Amino acid sequence: MTDGTAGRPAPGAVGWTVPAAEALRAGPGYDLASLDRRSTPGFDGDKDAGRAAMQQRGEVLSVLQEQLYAHGRTGGDRSVLLVLQGMDTAGKGGVVRHVLGMVDPQGVALRAFGVPTPAEAAQHYLERIRAALPAPGRIGVFDRSHYEDVLVVRVEELVPVAQWEGRYDEIVAFEEEVAARGTTVVKVLLAVSYEEQAARLRRRLERPDKHWKYDPADIDARGRWGEYQEAYQAVLDRTSTPGAPWYVVPADRKWFARLAVTELLVEALEGLGLTWPEVDLDVAGELARLEATLP
Ligand code: AMP
Ligand code: MG
Repeated sequence: MTDGTAGRPAPGAVGWTVPAAEALRAGPGYDLASLDRRSTPGFDGDKDAGRAAMQQRGEVLSVLQEQLYAHGRTGGDRSVLLVLQGMDTAGKGGVVRHVLGMVDPQGVALRAFGVPTPAEAAQHYLERIRAALPAPGRIGVFDRSHYEDVLVVRVEELVPVAQWEGRYDEIVAFEEEVAARGTTVVKVLLAVSYEEQAARLRRRLERPDKHWKYDPADIDARGRWGEYQEAYQAVLDRTSTPGAPWYVVPADRKWFARLAVTELLVEALEGLGLTWPEVDLDVAGELARLEATLP
């Protein structure tokens, strides 16, 4: 940062001691294994303070999102893409519901990526991703993403190592291309702990209203926890770039994970420096025409 604001939280970000982007960024040498997944990096406050901050910043996010939408509607090319990754139960769905739920759904383009369909599997793995990129003015949200192609694919050995090895560089190049077309990519790893995941899976099993969310395959992935953590570490090492860094959000406290993603989005949108578009409109003339329609 060169504007003299480095180290200072965004204006109005109550409770943050440094910008969320700074507190959560996975820079060179970042070590995922040493992260305390119940910690709240950058935020100095408890759950109640977090809830209050979330509501306050949600209102800011909502205005920024409308500005982005207006920008897109008036010929602007900017958009934002939130990429959400994390182990099962890490809270990706909760972020979509509680963070993106604070803004106008018209401006959000949500896409969840599951096991590729036969048609998708017949294409290059980035094709379905490309097709889902946000249009100008939108906040795109990926619930899982092209990173599955170096996560589950690597751990489960769905393709030979020689094939997934090249994907890290390919993904970096792809994201550079996306950024060059006006999309700010915000990549978030929701890092839940092994213990907390067990508690969440148990809760799903104990609640009939959550059974629809339970996937027996989640236990298989859990059985390869260490390998997944290694695969995530490789993702951070090889794809956290200055232009599209990874943010690692400790996810054992849901309130913090949601607050952190809210703040990351606010900071990303503020970074676009958007203003309300100036529209060439004869306001007085239009008001006169409106008056003329009244009896
Ligand atoms: P969920 O997010 O719970 O709906 O689960 C989606 C599932 O799809 C997860 O088990 C992912 O690992 C899996 N998945 C997503 N992308 C891919 C991919 N490219 N190849 C294989 N499996 C994938
Ligand atoms: Mg699942």
